[in-house]
Amino acid sequence: MNHLPGTGKTVGVLALQGGVAEHATLLESLGAQVRLVKKPEQIEGLDALVLPGGESTVLDRLTRLFGLRQPLIDAIGGGLPTLGTCTGLIMLADQVEDPAAGQQTLGCLGVTVRRNAFGPQVNSAETTLSWGKQGDQVDVRAAFIRAPLIVQASAGVDVLARYRGEIVGVQQGKMIGISFHPELTGDTTAHRHLLGLA
Ligand code: GLN
Repeated sequence: MNHLPGTGKTVGVLALQGGVAEHATLLESLGAQVRLVKKPEQIEGLDALVLPGGESTVLDRLTRLFGLRQPLIDAIGGGLPTLGTCTGLIMLADQVEDPAAGQQTLGCLGVTVRRNAFGPQVNSAETTLSWGKQGDQVDVRAAFIRAPLIVQASAGVDVLARYRGEIVGVQQGKMIGISFHPELTGDTTAHRHLLGLA
């Protein structure tokens, strides 16, 4: 089983709200030890972190309420490999184009996102995307659920995936932000990519 990319790695999943179990299951299937993160001290010693999908206004409030906001900024800013999916991407972003009143993000990733850019729940879709840098791409099965769009990416941010020409996946240093949910389709590409950074 040593060939599994997660072997020997402890990966945190922020577990305050949203699609926590699906990420945990997928990471375990890749051999990682999963730690559910609800308290600041649970960030210590992690090899990588996943910020799951859910609802960004709620997750913002809960991270502040649980004293996790600054510890997350410190850890991610300090180079902890991190994958943010959907709400997790919004949490990572520097700027939200249309924030709810008082909504904050962790502001680690140099992108601007537009929440709910694909319309309401009824427009949610499953599709196949190309993932990776030009010339080195693989297919990824992706689910979009009230997904955000990356409307602007700063210099130093690499585009990893597009959907209908729009940016839906990026990497900056050890941070990966994606609009969609690979954990719901069972596609392991993004999580393998994260484990490769760990
Ligand atoms: N629309 C949600 C938000 O603003 C994201 C939805 C999701 O994570 N699937 O956070």
